[in-house]
Amino acid sequence: MNEKIRLGISSCLLGEKVRYDGGHKLDHFLRDGLGKYVDWVPVCPEVEIGLPVPREAMRLVGLPEAPRLITVRTGKDYTDRMSKWAAKRLEEIEEEDLCGFVFKSRSPSSGMKAVKVYSESGVPSNKGTGIFARAFIERFPLLPVEDEGRLNDPALRENFIERIFVYQQWKEFLKSAGSIAQLIAFHTRHKLLILSHSAKHYTILGRLVADAKKYKTDEIRRDYLKHLMEGLRLTATIRKHTNVLQHMMGYFKARLTADEKQELIETIENYHAGFVPLIVPITLLMHYVRKFDEPYLKGQYYLKPHPAELMLRNHV
Ligand code: SF4
Repeated sequence: MNEKIRLGISSCLLGEKVRYDGGHKLDHFLRDGLGKYVDWVPVCPEVEIGLPVPREAMRLVGLPEAPRLITVRTGKDYTDRMSKWAAKRLEEIEEEDLCGFVFKSRSPSSGMKAVKVYSESGVPSNKGTGIFARAFIERFPLLPVEDEGRLNDPALRENFIERIFVYQQWKEFLKSAGSIAQLIAFHTRHKLLILSHSAKHYTILGRLVADAKKYKTDEIRRDYLKHLMEGLRLTATIRKHTNVLQHMMGYFKARLTADEKQELIETIENYHAGFVPLIVPITLLMHYVRKFDEPYLKGQYYLKPHPAELMLRNHV
C-alpha cells in the first residue's frame, strides 16, 4: 500500500468529546486498527454549526425523505442552519481528497441509514438519514460510505475497506497520465475482485474497457468509476467467492499433482460449506501463485485487497 488513505469520519468516533451529552463514541477498531492506514478528516456537524458541548439533544421530525432537525425539549429548528453549513463545508471537503467517510450511526446529523424520524404526532420510523450525511451522499454518490454500527458486520466491514482501497488505487490511476493503456492495466488487476462482487459489472466493465477508444477520456473514466463502485457495493457472497476461487484453480489444474488438486478442491469446498473462512483457500492459492509464478493471478488485487493485519478475511 502506498500513502495513507484519507477518510472522513464523525469526530465523536475518534474519541472527541463533542456529543450532546459531553461524551464521545470512541471506536477502537477505527482509531487503532484501520487508523494505522488512514489519515482521518474529522467532522462534527453540530459543533461546526456553532452549538456548544453539552447541548440539547436533537431528532429528525417530519417526512423521512425531507425531515427537519429539531431539538427534543424546546423544539428549536436547526435544519436551515445545518443545510447551509453543509453546502459550504462540502466544498471544502471536496478539496480533502477523501476516499470515503465513516458516519456515526443513528445520529440526526451524521447517521447515514435507518435514523429515527418522528412523525408530527411523535411516532418514530427508522427510515431517515442525518442532514449532513444526506448532503454528503448526494454530493459524492460514488464515494464509499458506512457507519460504525454496520461496520461491526464482518461482511460489510470487508466490503467497505476493500472499496476504500480500490478508490485510492483509482485516485492514483487518475494522478498518473490515466491513459487508456493504464486504464486497461487498472481493470486487469481488479478483474477478479470485481467478479467476486458482481458478474454483471464484470461484464459491463470489460466491455467498456474493450471499447475504450470509442469514448472521450473523461467519459470513459466517469462511466468506468460509476460501474466499478456500483459493482463493488454489492456484497461478495460465499457463492460468488467460490466461483472466483474455482476460476483461479483453473490456472493450476495441469500443474498440480493429484493430491494437491484434491487438497485444493476440498479446501474450496470447505469454504463453500462454511467450515473455514475465506483466508484459508486464498492462502493455499497464493502459495501456488508464488510457486508457479503465475503472471495474471500474481497481479490480482483480489488476493490481497487490504492489509493482512486487519484480518478481514478471517471472518468472512
Ligand atoms: S454524531 Fe455527528 S454531530 Fe453528533 S457528536 Fe458525533 S460527529 Fe458530532
